[in-house]
Amino acid sequence: MLDQTQVERLEAEAVNSAKTRQPLYAARKKIFPKRASGRFRQFKWLVMAITLGIYYLTPWLRWDRGAFAPHQAVLLDLANRRFYFFFIEIWPQEFYYVAGLLMMAGVGLFLVTSTVGRAWCGYACPQTVWVDLFLVVERAIEGDRNARIKLDAAPWSARKLMLRISKHTIWLLIAVATGGAWIFYFADAPTLALDVARGTAAPVAYVTILVLTATTYTFGGLMREQVCTYMCPWPRIQGAMLDENSLTVTYNDWRGEPRSRHAKKSLAAGQSMGDCVDCNACVAVCPMGIDIRDGQQMECITCALCIDACDGVMDKLGRERGLIAYATLSDYNANMSLATAGGTAPVNPALVRTAKGTFAEGLAHFHLRNIFRLRTYIYLGTWSAIGLVLVYSVLTRERLELNVLHDRNPQFVILSDGSIRNGYTLKLLNMIPEPRAIEVSLQGLPGAEMSVVGVDLPPARSFATLAEPDRLKTLKVFVRQPVDRIAGAAQEFTFRIEDKAGVESAEYTATFNAPETAR
Ligand code: SF4
Ligand code: SF4
Repeated sequence: MLDQTQVERLEAEAVNSAKTRQPLYAARKKIFPKRASGRFRQFKWLVMAITLGIYYLTPWLRWDRGAFAPHQAVLLDLANRRFYFFFIEIWPQEFYYVAGLLMMAGVGLFLVTSTVGRAWCGYACPQTVWVDLFLVVERAIEGDRNARIKLDAAPWSARKLMLRISKHTIWLLIAVATGGAWIFYFADAPTLALDVARGTAAPVAYVTILVLTATTYTFGGLMREQVCTYMCPWPRIQGAMLDENSLTVTYNDWRGEPRSRHAKKSLAAGQSMGDCVDCNACVAVCPMGIDIRDGQQMECITCALCIDACDGVMDKLGRERGLIAYATLSDYNANMSLATAGGTAPVNPALVRTAKGTFAEGLAHFHLRNIFRLRTYIYLGTWSAIGLVLVYSVLTRERLELNVLHDRNPQFVILSDGSIRNGYTLKLLNMIPEPRAIEVSLQGLPGAEMSVVGVDLPPARSFATLAEPDRLKTLKVFVRQPVDRIAGAAQEFTFRIEDKAGVESAEYTATFNAPETAR
């Protein structure tokens, strides 16, 4: 038997050992982004104005479709199962157009991400746009970063209460406007706005406003960057779409390191120093609260505000812009290799500069052709092909359709004079918002004539009917053929409908059944 001291002790440690275990939930650290200024900030203002303008104003655009269709340019008319988009009207059976548009949006997102990284996240995603808007309000009321940090740390006072109430009130008003704008896409906006104000709108309208107000206020005002980091799946997915030639916001440590706040002293001591003066301006403006100098991070939405901040610092120092810049991984690697003598030494900025202080010739610089590569062309080709098919299909689609159901029970009836009669249900689809005079006629089936149930007209090979605008018209039709003209137990013939104005027509091939003995 072994003594307890003789039992071998293995070198092993639990991966979640109590000594080192981190809590699964880390409390949120508040972020107080500083106002940035520069070309990317300007561009973001522009995108923000356009996207918010489109969202809030679109339901109010009018489009004349005549007396029989709504005059709202963009309308999802769920009650009547129609989708209006300017001159295009989509019926439920044409939902493939919506599927096509969704495919284009998906492929377009792949295209953008593979070329310019998370441009969608940084500029056009609703979460980014609304957080930006909420930050504008916050800054206007509470001041820029330092003032907000001070206010947050200060004990509650009448001033702090006033500022906070003002901020949250405006946030709530923006949230209500956001939820309110959404419902206008589903009904005539002016009418619905009046109904909502009077309290006579459908309950679903108020519930929708309430839900969207709550989500906008919570996501845009309270949760902000946490939505991107923890809730949105897109940051995880897009990693697979980026490659070494995709543009991403990059800290060029090949020229920035070693960083120092006391570069003059270091230079005087003969040390080679990088361009980064460790001022943290790039961290202060980041709406995600991260430091791009730590390398690519999932949290980075590539809003490029750190580029603006750093460019401003470089301008003040009289150095070249672009210490933080949009760059491809392949260019970055090439320059890092140069700065580190092929990876054999720490970054030495002297290796990427000439004796005059300008950049060395061998440095890799971004070139547009780098982002136009096979992958980009495949995405662009797929996106364009789907778009062309959709456009062609919309421009050439029929707005008059015919469907026919043949009576199954009985398949035919033998009338007293020996002639055979078959019954059919004709479904005429007039897909334009105007009434149409339609002629229905028989093609083939010699000697046969039609009569319409409920219409007092003598049997004939054709008859006229009025198709209501934007409606399906159903007709019950009997076709009768004299016994001496019967040519088989199942004869094919055609129902034809034609707009009397001669613009469109549609046909349906049907079968006329007769007993074998009738011939
Ligand atoms: S690191 Fe730069 S690009 Fe990324 S989110 Fe922050 S500010 Fe925007
Ligand atoms: S803004 Fe530029 S110089 Fe300042 S810390 Fe960031 S990278 Fe360095």
